[in-house]
Amino acid sequence: MSSCVACGAEIQGKGMKHHVSYFPERMVQVDKRCHRLIHQTDDFPELRPTAYDSLKFYGPLSGMEKTIKVEVETWKTLAQIKLDKGLDSFDAVIAWLLKK
Ligand SMILES: [Zn+2]
Repeated sequence: MSSCVACGAEIQGKGMKHHVSYFPERMVQVDKRCHRLIHQTDDFPELRPTAYDSLKFYGPLSGMEKTIKVEVETWKTLAQIKLDKGLDSFDAVIAWLLKK
């Protein structure tokens, strides 16, 4: 019987292997409940793989990369508006957008 690295409780049943990092690959044993918490909340920040690691591991079609692409496109758009309108800050861009 092993215990959960996150909460310290003894793991009932199979438990799960959780990747703390992918490069280098480092795995720990956690229970299902904590595995979900690690990925969906900030309760165990030290057990979360970095976004960079996940991106490299899961490859270009992951939801992570799509999210990043959307963010980047948003920033590009804001930067373009800033340039086009001759605004001097992103605060000014947001003010301009809100005025429309
Ligand atoms: Zn646990």
